[in-house]
Amino acid sequence: MKYLNLLILFLVVSILGSSQSISKISVDVFPNDHSAENFAKMQLYPLIVEVKHQIELKSYDKDTLILKLDKGDYNMFFKDFFYNQLQASVIKEDKVISTNFSFDGMLLKIPLQEKHNVNIEISYLHQSDFGMKNNSNTTEYLIPFMDEWHSWYFTNNEIPIDSLKINLSGDFSFFCSLPYTKTNNTYNIELKQDSEISFYLIDNKYFHKKSFVSEDVKYNLYLFKDIVIDTVLNNNKDSVIAYPGDRITYDFESNVEKTIKHTMKHLASIFEPKYVNEINIIDASLSLFLDDDSTGYTWGRQFEMNEKQSVILVDTSYWNDNSIQHEIIHSFTKPFVNKTDSTYHLFSESLVEYLSLILKYNSENALDSVFNKKSINFKKMGYNIDSLPSIFDIGKNNLNLSGTGNFSNIVIYYYVPFLFHNLAKEVGYKKFILRFYYFCAVANQEETKNMQLLKNCLQSKDFISDKQWNAFIDKL
Ligand SMILES: [Zn+2]
Repeated sequence: MKYLNLLILFLVVSILGSSQSISKISVDVFPNDHSAENFAKMQLYPLIVEVKHQIELKSYDKDTLILKLDKGDYNMFFKDFFYNQLQASVIKEDKVISTNFSFDGMLLKIPLQEKHNVNIEISYLHQSDFGMKNNSNTTEYLIPFMDEWHSWYFTNNEIPIDSLKINLSGDFSFFCSLPYTKTNNTYNIELKQDSEISFYLIDNKYFHKKSFVSEDVKYNLYLFKDIVIDTVLNNNKDSVIAYPGDRITYDFESNVEKTIKHTMKHLASIFEPKYVNEINIIDASLSLFLDDDSTGYTWGRQFEMNEKQSVILVDTSYWNDNSIQHEIIHSFTKPFVNKTDSTYHLFSESLVEYLSLILKYNSENALDSVFNKKSINFKKMGYNIDSLPSIFDIGKNNLNLSGTGNFSNIVIYYYVPFLFHNLAKEVGYKKFILRFYYFCAVANQEETKNMQLLKNCLQSKDFISDKQWNAFIDKL
C-alpha cells in the first residue's frame, strides 16, 4: 500500500513537473542568396531554414535532458548536414552556464548541472533528406518538412511542444498538416497532442494557380509549370540558373478542371462533402530513388489541414491515371479503421483504389484492360500472384513512402481491387457497382466498419451467393 502511494506520488510529481515546463519552437525561413556566408552552410535548397527550440525547465528529475529525432535513416552520417550548426545551451538567469551537449544523429543529450528554472536553447539549420532521395530538380520549388519520413524537430515525451511559429520570407505558399492562424508572415500552428507536424513550401513562381468550385467544394490547383535549368557563363564563371517552363497550356488547364468536375459529379452522388469544403492540389514532380534498382517511385499524399480543408500533393503523372481520383476520395472519407486493425489496408486503401478506378474508367471493358496491363507489368517484374501475403496481414503489407521491402503496392492497389472487379464481373458489373457505391456511402457514415458491414451492403439474396462470397473472402 505504502509502495503504491509512493508510486502515485511519484507519478503526480512527474506529470506536474513536466507539465510546468514550456517548450516552444520557432522556425525562420528566408531565401538563400547563395552568398559566401550561406554557401558555407551547405544548403541544398533555395531556402535557409533556421529552427530555434526553447525549453523552460521548471524542475527536472534527471541529470540529462534527452531529446530525440524519430525519423532519419542516415542521420548518423549526415547529421552535420541535416542539422547544420547545431547548438544547445543551458541558461540560468540570463547567463549561459553550459554549452555541453552531444548529438549522434538521433539523440541530443544535454547534461544538466542545474535542474530547476533553467532555459534550454537549441538551434540549427535544418534541411530534409528529400533533396538526396529525390531524382529530379524538385528541391528548387518544393521543400517538404515531412516528419513521417525525416524529422525536422526534436521531441521529448515528457515535455510536449506548446507552441510553434513559422516565419516565412519570400514568395512561397505554405501548407501544413495542422490548422493554423496567420499574422503577416507568421504562421501560428495549432498543435494537437500526438500528431506529427509536417509542412510544405512551394515557390510560387513555378506554379500556376487555378481556382473553381465544383459540387460545393472549392478547388485551388497549383499546377506545376515545369523547370528549366540552364548553365550560363556569368563573369567568366559557370553558374546554374533555374526558371519556370511552359507546361501549363490552356488545354492542360481545362482538361484538369474537366477531370475534377467529372469525378465530383459521381462523388457527389455517393458522399456528402461532410469532411471537406476546400481541396488544395499541388502538382509537382515527386519521384524518389528506390534502394536497389534505382527505378523511380512516384508518390502522392492527401492530408487533412483541419476538419474542412484538404491538401493533396501529387506527382504530375497522377493526371494520367486514376491517382488524382484516389486522393480526392481520401478528402471525402475519414480513415475507416485504426491503423493496427487487420482491415486497415482493405478499408482505407484498396476500397478507395477500386472506387477511384470506377470513377476514372467507368466501364467494365475499360477496367478489364487496366487490370490486364497491371497484371502483365507485375508478371514482368517477377511477382507471383499466388504467393502474395493476405491483405489482412498488416505487418507484411506495411505501407511506407519509400515503397521498398514489401508487397504493399501490389496487394493493396492492384490485387485486392482486382478481386473486387472479378466479383463484380461474376455477379453483374452494373448491379455490383451500385451496391459498392452504397457500401462506400454507408461506411462513411457508420462508426463501425467491418467485414460484416461490407457483406451486408454488397450481398443480397440471389445476387451474391454465400459460396461466391466465401470464395471471394478466401482470396483476400
Ligand atoms: Zn490512398
